[in-house]
Amino acid sequence: MPVAPRHSILAVIGGGPAGLMAAETARAAGIDVHLFEAKGSVGRKFLIAGKGGLNLTHSEPRPGFDARYRERAREVGAWLDDFDADALRQWARGFGIESYIGSSGRVFPNDRKAAPLLRGWVRRLKESGVQMHVQHRWQGWTNDGALSFDTPDGPMPFKADAVVLALGGGSWPQLGSDGAWMPLLAARGIDLAPLAPSNCGFDIGWSLYLAEKFAGAPLKPVLAHWHDFEGVAHTLQGECVLTEHGIEGSLIYAISADLREVLARDGLATLHLDLVPGRALERLSRDLAKPRNGRSLGEHLRRQAGIEGAKAALLFEVLDKAALQDMPRVAATIKHLPLTLRSARPIAEAISTAGGVRLDALDARLMLRALPGVFCAGEMLDWEAPTGGYLLTACFASGLRAGRGAADWLVCNHGRID
Ligand SMILES: Cc1cc2nc3c(=O)[nH]c(=O)nc-3n(C[C@H](O)[C@H](O)[C@H](O)COP(=O)(O)OP(=O)(O)OC[C@H]3O[C@@H](n4cnc5c(N)ncnc54)[C@H](O)[C@@H]3O)c2cc1C
Repeated sequence: MPVAPRHSILAVIGGGPAGLMAAETARAAGIDVHLFEAKGSVGRKFLIAGKGGLNLTHSEPRPGFDARYRERAREVGAWLDDFDADALRQWARGFGIESYIGSSGRVFPNDRKAAPLLRGWVRRLKESGVQMHVQHRWQGWTNDGALSFDTPDGPMPFKADAVVLALGGGSWPQLGSDGAWMPLLAARGIDLAPLAPSNCGFDIGWSLYLAEKFAGAPLKPVLAHWHDFEGVAHTLQGECVLTEHGIEGSLIYAISADLREVLARDGLATLHLDLVPGRALERLSRDLAKPRNGRSLGEHLRRQAGIEGAKAALLFEVLDKAALQDMPRVAATIKHLPLTLRSARPIAEAISTAGGVRLDALDARLMLRALPGVFCAGEMLDWEAPTGGYLLTACFASGLRAGRGAADWLVCNHGRID
């Protein structure tokens, strides 16, 4: 449906959490807001996030919270100054959505669902006067500076006085965010970091036996040991899952940025897993040294070390027959099992994306320095964070910052808002 441009119009492109928050904020400031979404409905990735329980944010206090954004902690921290985890929970309460802190510190809506929140939000946005245009895929700018959209009725130009781009990263492209905006901004001279998988799994290259028998098997709890890009050693306890190709799961996602960086530099990355974090090597060695009394190795491992199923399969994967008879070596391997990661899984499979619009290309309002009046928000910006609610929190906070920045900029450059 063609849209008639009016005075002081903000186009928000992308109907994920960042775009919706930008639209809400600018509309609340009195701006005439049109929201464009390529798909037939908004918030598809947000809804999928709800399938896993919708981890809205995290209860970790700042500045620890900010540190999750790694090299971008300072910039993201500035967005969080305006909209942090508590503000997010308060905002959700405005839709009647109460939230609770889970045992891991993660924050979930009481019903763990995204749909009720999204439904209430879209209704409120429409009631407030935000005009929604779904099935409008942004394709760049026309020669006379209008925004150009592909629609079911053909190409449509749209004149806006300012734009918020909230186009998402490149993971799960079937949900709408496919990174196709990268060349459009690169052509305008915007400094972009290549998109890369974040919160992703890794390829190892298992034997056929392990891949066929244990894909999907969880490993819990395990302690991961790894070195970051600077060579600093780290450990983290958690849970992961063996896959057909390698390994994934919350523990792996949490350390995926470090592993990806080492892989990019060295071509390989090594991860060591402690399969029995609660048991010291000395104790384990003593237990495994006990006589087998005719029991099979598998049974001995199960009885003396609690190693069975996927953990046993891993041990058999990395030790040959002779080594498996050498109990001190078996014990040492159970405590420090080496895994060589060959590559990160493709972006399309990752939970989120690293890379995107470099933060240096933006001013504090999140306006592109090279394109006055064009603001950016959400996962399309060059920051990353582990799962745990940190992703959505930064998307909301940057959406608010960009929406506010665009509203202020329109007031300064286009005078009174009707
Ligand atoms: C399976 C899964 C589970 C997740 N669970 C959680 C979780 O529990 N907690 C958490 O914090 N994070 C979670 N995330 C991450 C979180 O969902 C994203 O970080 C967040 O949705 C990004 O918000 P965004 O608004 O920046 O982008 P998106 O949500 O990706 O939205 C971008 C929108 O822009 C639209 N778009 C793209 N290009 C165009 C174009 N050219 N024209 C018009 N529209 C366009 C897309 O269709 C899309 O609707 C999860 C992600 C996945 C994949």
